Amino acid sequence: MTQRFSVPRGTADILPDTVANWQNMERIARDYFQLFHYRELRTPCFEETELFARSMGQTTEVVQKQMLRLQSQKEDESSPFALRPEGTAAILRAYIQYGLVKQESLSKFFYMGPMFRGERPQKGRLRQFHQMGVEAIGAGTASPFLDAEVIALAVNLLKAFGCNPFQLKVNTLGSLSDKNQFASWLRGNLESRLNQLEPELQQSFRANIFRILDSKDPAAKALIRDLNFDGNYLSAESREYFAQVKSALDSLRVEYTVVPQLVRGLDYYTHTVFEFSDPSLGSQDALGAGGRYNGLARQLGAGIDIDAIGFALGMERILLSAAGQQSIVPESISYYIISLDEAFIGKAFWLQDIIRRQGVSCDMSYRGGSVKSLMRSANKSGAKYTIILGQDEIIKNELTVKIMHSGEQLRVALDQIEEFLKNHR
Ligand code: AMP
Repeated sequence: MTQRFSVPRGTADILPDTVANWQNMERIARDYFQLFHYRELRTPCFEETELFARSMGQTTEVVQKQMLRLQSQKEDESSPFALRPEGTAAILRAYIQYGLVKQESLSKFFYMGPMFRGERPQKGRLRQFHQMGVEAIGAGTASPFLDAEVIALAVNLLKAFGCNPFQLKVNTLGSLSDKNQFASWLRGNLESRLNQLEPELQQSFRANIFRILDSKDPAAKALIRDLNFDGNYLSAESREYFAQVKSALDSLRVEYTVVPQLVRGLDYYTHTVFEFSDPSLGSQDALGAGGRYNGLARQLGAGIDIDAIGFALGMERILLSAAGQQSIVPESISYYIISLDEAFIGKAFWLQDIIRRQGVSCDMSYRGGSVKSLMRSANKSGAKYTIILGQDEIIKNELTVKIMHSGEQLRVALDQIEEFLKNHR
């Protein structure tokens, strides 16, 4: 028996019936990105593996376990490329590569596209999934107002998509040196108790103590439950910065909850971090997340510090969250042509071209037959008008046009069709 193929595990086909939801989401997003003056930047779907390792951090789960590396055709060449697991690293790579720091003080980009992670697939968690996101990048551009703008943009988007009520959690990690203080504070409080955990977790938390804050392990959760996150590890400047972010969010009437344990899995975040979740989605409830990452550009070889902030929203999750709100509108066309005899198909084909040339959508049946069977195809197509070509029409050089919603039929002279199309599109 010949092999039948199916879509790879952890990936999904987006069939024509649901693609309208995707296009709708993309259209809304593009309008908002323009409204907030973010411009699209498209980067390749794969990059040097090292770019992701350096930007996301060697100790992160994505880099350690989920990178989908590309195998080189040549056996002697170790593959230096991996499919992109997220969008930020490539945007910053491009920003540095094209010397944008010298050209514009603040660059605001958006992106949309597939991302790849070798995860264990489940509902809302795929190996190829889609993200849309923004990055606002520029040396010396960090501002609490910009942080609030980026968060508000994401809030606007999620509301415009019709997502279920969602939660916005915010926190600050402070500057890079505050973050080190925060890490020491965590280590100081947890070191003596880490050995209560599984060896693998101990090792992972010793490599990056922040990971314990993200951990789903019950024992790890218990360890941090009674810590008093008083923010004393933050400098006065960082606290003031965060206070301003919060008051800018208040002025935009954005509702949020401050969660001092929120750190985000990736190493490069500094200062403001935030996360959106929809509790109705179950275990995979994160709709998106983001934060400021002033330290990343230097890590990627920019030679200077370049401030940056961004977010990424998971597009599959958005559609799950907004599922109740969407009406799937079948994509319909204006005209559908049927020929009551095979002999008229050539004429129908020619007519279809005339109609399409007027910028009017049209489709046709490529087989002749009875009115009854062909009208079934016309109805299915969702066309506003059906053109019927029968013996009588051909002889008289006319067309019968059926207005589908009323059932009314008109006769139109063939040489008047272009005129007719102007008022019946
Ligand atoms: P992250 O870059 O991990 O913060 O992801 C940002 C958002 O992308 C998450 O909040 C999810 O909505 C979405 N996302 C991340 N990983 C996956 C995945 N494997 N499948 C589907 N969506 C994902």
